Amino acid sequence: MQDIIKNCLKTLSCNIDARYYERMCLHTTFKVGGPADCYIKPSDDNFPLFCADIINKARTAGIPVFILGGGANIVVSDSGIRGIVLDTTAWKGQCNDNQPVVNRLVFRSGTTMDEACEYAAEAGLTGLEFLAGMPGTIGGAVWMNARCYGKEISDCLSSVKIFNFNSSAFSEYSIEDKKGFDYKKSPFQEMDCLILSAAFDLKPGNKEQIICEMDKNRRDRKEKGHYLFPCAGSAFKNNSDFGKPTGQIIDELGLRGMTMGGAQIAPFHGNIVINKDNAAAADIKALMDKTAAIVKEKTGFELEPEIIFAGKFAI
Ligand SMILES: Cc1cc2nc3c(=O)[nH]c(=O)nc-3n(C[C@H](O)[C@H](O)[C@H](O)COP(=O)(O)OP(=O)(O)OC[C@H]3O[C@@H](n4cnc5c(N)ncnc54)[C@H](O)[C@@H]3O)c2cc1C
Repeated sequence: MQDIIKNCLKTLSCNIDARYYERMCLHTTFKVGGPADCYIKPSDDNFPLFCADIINKARTAGIPVFILGGGANIVVSDSGIRGIVLDTTAWKGQCNDNQPVVNRLVFRSGTTMDEACEYAAEAGLTGLEFLAGMPGTIGGAVWMNARCYGKEISDCLSSVKIFNFNSSAFSEYSIEDKKGFDYKKSPFQEMDCLILSAAFDLKPGNKEQIICEMDKNRRDRKEKGHYLFPCAGSAFKNNSDFGKPTGQIIDELGLRGMTMGGAQIAPFHGNIVINKDNAAAADIKALMDKTAAIVKEKTGFELEPEIIFAGKFAI
């Protein structure tokens, strides 16, 4: 892997932070996860070309590449991630200055959601307020089709630039009628790709009202205890067939507070698993498996994890 990075740097200069056996607990909001064999964080304008080169060379050598955003929706196993972890968080900012389209904002994928909605507020554009206070990056949110307060990111998404691992090509994916998007689903989950940027079509709004709405959402999350403990937001997906939110089902079975090792179902929310006390990733996985098994036994409903498990977990 060192040779691949050296070769890529020979072809194209790029500022990178490269580390070996980097503990992933330092890069996830759950604060769990063992070492990545190789962790790379490129941080200059050559990011797209450099990443493409790394991905191509790694794949030719049979080395897997994992794309990391803010690490706000993943649990990395205690044994870590084999191959290369490509951290996108330094590839940030607004990037439509050259070809501005009225009411359209384009963000690099590593831009945090808070940064993106602050940009929009500053520009007097409404549509992204619901993202205020949600941890993670624009790339991760597009990949997940992140949602809250009755809105999802695909509602105002107009196009996404990607690098496709299989065709080895850059392309721009136009979003028409939210095709390919659904509840917690995006078309990018079916592709091997690196999301480079996302364009949003917004509407002119009143700056004070936009800021007020963002503050309200941040306050609401704080009051609901979202930031009290390391976590990754909702543990399981909702499912309209269940007739009620997953959190309510877990609450009604009296499972709040259930603990395995250092992981706990939040005493304040049935669908949030927290790292209460130095949890291992295995504790979180075991607690989620047990919760799903109890829910299945008592109600017949099959819970689907919303959190993504990266690396190897015992079955
Ligand atoms: C306190 C808290 C509250 C939360 N509340 C919500 C909520 O209300 N609604 C909600 O939907 N989520 C919520 N989440 C989860 C999380 O914030 C979102 O899922 C967010 O979109 C994850 O973004 P990320 O950058 O952290 O992605 P990561 O966790 O880093 O990655 C998630 C997936 O996306 C892929 N990915 C990331 N970036 C890219 C890229 N550039 N190109 C290709 N693939 C990429 C990764 O490989 C991984 O498979 C919450 C999390 C926390 C900690």
